[in-house]
Amino acid sequence: MNIHEYQGKEILRQYGVSVSNGKVAFSADEAVEAAKSLNSNVYVVKAQIHAGGRGKAGGVKIAKNLDEVRTYADELLGKTLVTHQTGPEGKEVKRLLIEEGIDIKKEYYVGLVIDRATDRVVMMASEEGGTEIEQVAEETPEKIFKEVIDPAIGLQGFQARRLAFNINIPNELVNKAAKFMLGLYQVFIEKDCSIAEINPLVVTGDGNVVALDAKLNFDSNALYRHKDIQELRDFDEEDPKEIEASKYDLSYIALDGNIGCMVNGAGLAMATMDIIKHYNGDPANFLDVGGGATAEKVTEAFKIILSDPNVKGIYVNIFGGIMKCDVIAEGVVEASKQVGLEIPLVVRLEGTNVDAGKRILQESGLNITAAESMADGAQKIVELVK
Ligand code: ADP
Ligand code: MG
Repeated sequence: MNIHEYQGKEILRQYGVSVSNGKVAFSADEAVEAAKSLNSNVYVVKAQIHAGGRGKAGGVKIAKNLDEVRTYADELLGKTLVTHQTGPEGKEVKRLLIEEGIDIKKEYYVGLVIDRATDRVVMMASEEGGTEIEQVAEETPEKIFKEVIDPAIGLQGFQARRLAFNINIPNELVNKAAKFMLGLYQVFIEKDCSIAEINPLVVTGDGNVVALDAKLNFDSNALYRHKDIQELRDFDEEDPKEIEASKYDLSYIALDGNIGCMVNGAGLAMATMDIIKHYNGDPANFLDVGGGATAEKVTEAFKIILSDPNVKGIYVNIFGGIMKCDVIAEGVVEASKQVGLEIPLVVRLEGTNVDAGKRILQESGLNITAAESMADGAQKIVELVK
């Protein structure tokens, strides 16, 4: 799960990690009030969306007085920002962060990720801050330094200082930078983050080390033990189809293609997407209805797929192991009746109660193309949506 920059900074503040001062605002009036309450004469108006790259896209504005704060707030609120992380459709700005303007001497990068190669949390740092770290990794990988963290003892002071030295933090500020890194690590562990990225971390004119940006992502499998984090979820930032799916405990991810997929089991769902691609089709979603899905759950899943206007055909690919084919068939028929099915449907059923499942589909009167195998079904649906 993703949160906004201002929320991430609030969490960092609770852990004594230094961040720039600021306040969230939902309107231009609130933006001006927020700016007044800051003890500063330069303000920064920052669009809050769940995506980076706002600076380059015009989502971060420097205001020299309260009038400019209002002007920028008016300009940004309601605007659709397109950054290199939002995709071409962009994201609508509904919240702003009004911050004090920081006197930046130099920008750095610090991030924590889970490294699957070492099975460890790794802290990465670079003196190439402010730019995309992916670009630094590609063009000047020698400028990224890493410390692999032993989970039993956590990030050690010497590791943090070594990183600070490596990225050329001024000598007199190395201890401040190390303290920052240790605090960031504590947040990462205690809040079950999957990513904690500070880009940029800055050294200021008055000799401080401060986070100017904060991106925290949380492991959704651990959210049950963080009620405070769950409350930060912003449904405006999520695909409504995915929100609907999460209500029914369905693993659903929307994609850009036109073939809706209903599959059981994450592995089979991945394989189904692959085979559709193999036959030059494009899946519209990833959907795993799970092992013990009820007819009701299948109905909801089918409705969610059909609610996507890009979907021009549906491929149901089920292997009935724990899941029973007749339950899937009932769900498909029920959903088609409720919402009306006007697009091609290819069904491949195999496994437990397969005959009962096929019978339910045949007797439903729906226009269904039966498939003999997974590959056969993929070829048929790709042909039908052409
Ligand atoms: P994004 O990563 O989405 O582009 P950032 O929060 O990193 O957004 O802001 C982009 C740039 O704007 C920063 O690299 C920094 O140069 C500048 N900036 C951001 N916040 C402030 C601030 N409070 N004071 C001064 N400059 C800022
Ligand atoms: Mg940034």
